[in-house]
Amino acid sequence: MSAERLPFMRLQPAEDRPAVEAAIRRVIDRGWFVLGPEVDAFEQAFARLCGTRHAIGVGTGTDAIAIILRGLGIGAGDEVITTPLSAAYSALACMMAGARPVFADLDPERLTLDPAAVEAAITPRTAAILPVHLYGQPADMPAIVTIASRHGIAVVEDCCQAHLATCNGQPVGSFGVAAAYSFYPTKNLGALGDGGAITTSDAALAAKVKRIRNGGQTDRYHHGEMGVNSRLDEMQAAILSARLPFLPGWTQARRIGAAAYRRLLTGAPVVVPPQADPGHVYHLFPVRSPQRDQLQAWLLEQGIETLVHYPVPVHLQQAYLSRIALGAGGLAETEKACGEILSLPMHPHLSDEDAHRVISALLGYPPVAVAHPEKRADP
Ligand SMILES: *Cc1c(COP(=O)(O)O)cnc(C)c1O
Repeated sequence: MSAERLPFMRLQPAEDRPAVEAAIRRVIDRGWFVLGPEVDAFEQAFARLCGTRHAIGVGTGTDAIAIILRGLGIGAGDEVITTPLSAAYSALACMMAGARPVFADLDPERLTLDPAAVEAAITPRTAAILPVHLYGQPADMPAIVTIASRHGIAVVEDCCQAHLATCNGQPVGSFGVAAAYSFYPTKNLGALGDGGAITTSDAALAAKVKRIRNGGQTDRYHHGEMGVNSRLDEMQAAILSARLPFLPGWTQARRIGAAAYRRLLTGAPVVVPPQADPGHVYHLFPVRSPQRDQLQAWLLEQGIETLVHYPVPVHLQQAYLSRIALGAGGLAETEKACGEILSLPMHPHLSDEDAHRVISALLGYPPVAVAHPEKRADP
């Protein structure tokens, strides 16, 4: 089979290219590269789009989570309940803040935190719940917020895969006290390098995280507290501002691609996780199969690139084993999912033809062994 390769995604700017190039030129001409007018402008535009009062640009999504936790005074001795099915960076961020990640199991359909498992994992040391809107699907925020307020615990949302997602019509990131975004190039809104943001409507927290991201500086050369150095740079902020107007259209295109997959996947030898909320933004489109590895190899033979998000749950990551805790009830749903999930190609420029190609390759699995079909004699 020598079909043209269908890439998992493409990262080169497309229709946004003129705007991105103009933004880069503007920053070079101005000669101001860190914490300047581009970051201010992007922060305002991003806050408006997210429906929060403040946005604060930082170096990465990981830093965004860690800085929020520090801004809330969460650190050594505190526990943060989160999901073991995520980029390992969500839990890393908790550890960077000095806290201990505690893992609760998944809702097997939604593949986000199971609220009942979260409640069972609460201890007197629990300081926050960190739901991840994984793959762009919102976690069950009404249930999580109810549990958190009953126990007096903060909710911090990991929106790194969920730009513009909504839950019951309300923007994700506006349920908790603050939210973390990543602009890593593969995300729904990507920079041409690393970048991240914190959103919040709490003015005091906004001011605090703004200090923390810049070394704890209160005034020029005066450091009132110990911060970190995690600033969004002017070049990335300008690029993100140039791309921001495209984000609603790109989000719509992802939803259309996902709808095509769902329609065509009827009858395919995979389980398609249900869309729990129409506010899903399809950062990724996973399907499930007990024969995931064979299926992935078969698709690759047909030229179709897929990825696994994520093959190893965070609670089994070597580096983390001694620093984490497991909530009561085990993590069986997570471990099962990690063995079955397979992400199909998904990006805003996925054509109908691409979707058809992926699905017909899927429908051809398992391959029927025919020795030499071209030599078959006519009856
Ligand atoms: C990408 C991602 C992060 C980390 O973001 P970086 O910008 O790479 O640090 C954290 N959580 C989730 C769910 C992510 O997808």
